[in-house]
Amino acid sequence: MLKLLKNLKPYWLPIIGIILFIFIQVLSELFLPTIMADIVDIGIVKGDTAYIIQRGGWMLLATFLGTLCAIIAGLLSSRTGLAFGRDLRTRVFKKATAFSLYEFDELGTASMITRTTNDITQIQNLVIMVLRMFVMAPLMLIGGIFMAVSKDPKLSLVLVGVLPFLAGLIAFIATRSIPMFKAMQVKIDRLNLVLRENLTGLRVIRAFNRIDFEQKRFDNANTDLMTVSINVNKLMAILMPLMLLIFNFTTVAIIWFGSIRIDAGSMEVGSLMAFIQYAMQILFSLIMATMMFIMVPRASASAARINEMLDIEATITDPPKALISPKGKGHIKFENVSFSYPGAENPAISGITIQAQPGEITAIIGGTGSGKSTLINLIPRFYDVMEGRILLDDVDIKDMTQESLRDRIGLVPQQAVLFSGTVTENIKFGSDRLTDEDVKYASDIAQATSFINDMPEGFNSVIAQGGTNVSGGQKQRLAIARALASKPDIYIFDDSFSSLDFKTDAMLRRALKRETQSATVIIVAQRVTTVIDADCIIVLEDGKIVAMGNHKELLSACPVYQEIVASQLSEEELK
Ligand code: ADP
Ligand code: MG
Repeated sequence: MLKLLKNLKPYWLPIIGIILFIFIQVLSELFLPTIMADIVDIGIVKGDTAYIIQRGGWMLLATFLGTLCAIIAGLLSSRTGLAFGRDLRTRVFKKATAFSLYEFDELGTASMITRTTNDITQIQNLVIMVLRMFVMAPLMLIGGIFMAVSKDPKLSLVLVGVLPFLAGLIAFIATRSIPMFKAMQVKIDRLNLVLRENLTGLRVIRAFNRIDFEQKRFDNANTDLMTVSINVNKLMAILMPLMLLIFNFTTVAIIWFGSIRIDAGSMEVGSLMAFIQYAMQILFSLIMATMMFIMVPRASASAARINEMLDIEATITDPPKALISPKGKGHIKFENVSFSYPGAENPAISGITIQAQPGEITAIIGGTGSGKSTLINLIPRFYDVMEGRILLDDVDIKDMTQESLRDRIGLVPQQAVLFSGTVTENIKFGSDRLTDEDVKYASDIAQATSFINDMPEGFNSVIAQGGTNVSGGQKQRLAIARALASKPDIYIFDDSFSSLDFKTDAMLRRALKRETQSATVIIVAQRVTTVIDADCIIVLEDGKIVAMGNHKELLSACPVYQEIVASQLSEEELK
């Protein structure tokens, strides 16, 4: 909590302003009852109208000043709190963008979103409140006690009598509400989780007729949150009337004992009135302090979650003296590379030594889970190798900046991702320098032009969020066009032809071959037809290389490859 609040440092100027304005506000509020007492005890008793008007003027002034300062302090603290929230969100977001896929695996996307929004809002609200009350409560308490005692020390004993009751009430509320507030955060988390799963998995839920089940799951989470919230609110609802009760009893007691003292001639009526007001100020400041201590644990749960995210060191970073990726041809070399996912028992890939030459097509084939995606995800450093190294034009990819490395790579991931926006915007995503001609050209090669033209507004048609208004094969072709448009040295296609029909697949690869003649092309595939004319085919099984060579060589020498070919050709013959 405190660690996060240290981020308030840049706002020292507004904070000093807030303290100053609150100081003036409290001072004027403390002086008001005293001036009033003077009016009653001196002005009215003597019948001195001029004195009453003069003192009345002071009261008006103090009132205005107090109100003005309260408004300014409120404004400043809101602004500071909200700006603090904004900065924190920026920091968390920046952190998240620097994360490698390790950290994403570790935290989970859903939780990262909740932390960036809901949790930061909690902290932000706390900051706004603390900024106001942290200064106000102690100032008012000390000032109130000082003024009350100076008005009538003996009567102040009444306050001492009230304190145990108030302390009891505060302790009661605090001990009960703090666990409830903590539980509430957990329930909100749970609700978010269920809601997100339902919205993203809607199709599956419908297809499997799980709507009722999911409805119940959501209802449970929802009702759970309601129950806790109602309990918290019940508690808070008791707080107010109980406080008023204590306040009113205090007033009664003060008037009771005060009138005895007035009767005895040792106190005046105005002083008594003023004393009552000071008593209220003292009690009120104590309540304010309590509220603060109740809010803090609630926010500290959020703070811990945010800190957890900020404290994670991104595992993949640029070295201090990072090189710009050399201007080579795009020659990729794996030297005895191994990698395992965090927590996995066996390495996902091991002992990989391969080369991908410019001007050649290198294909990787193997069953699902054989480590194909893992292998190519190491090239743009989505993950870092654990053993061995990967060289790009004879420079270790860990020695160059991530940006210059990725600039040279056109990657079409296994799961094609489109962004909300037009078709053109999606293809231009790779680079800002692209013209509409480049876009058209790339989509021609990707065999995407014909279906784009069939869309209602051609290249300006809007892609829905998540690309739901195009088919899987269309998505893949758009993703391919995006990779082609930026004309990189290295193309990586991760199973990018799997959703295409055989005819489109063949046409696309023919066009691709012309376009990528001098580039390094790595194709991950399941289909033999896709890799049949590759210069080098690498057969993977359980993360290890089983064989390497061209189609003919493998067909005669590699049993695993023979098996794959046999299974697929018979399949095609059946059609
Ligand atoms: P392929 O692309 O050949 O189908 P992958 O490279 O995706 O295979 O996966 C290889 C192995 O690594 C699989 O056993 C899979 O379960 C595991 N794996 C893949 N991604 C992750 C991940 N993010 N965390 C943990 N294990 C993973
Ligand atoms: Mg894969």
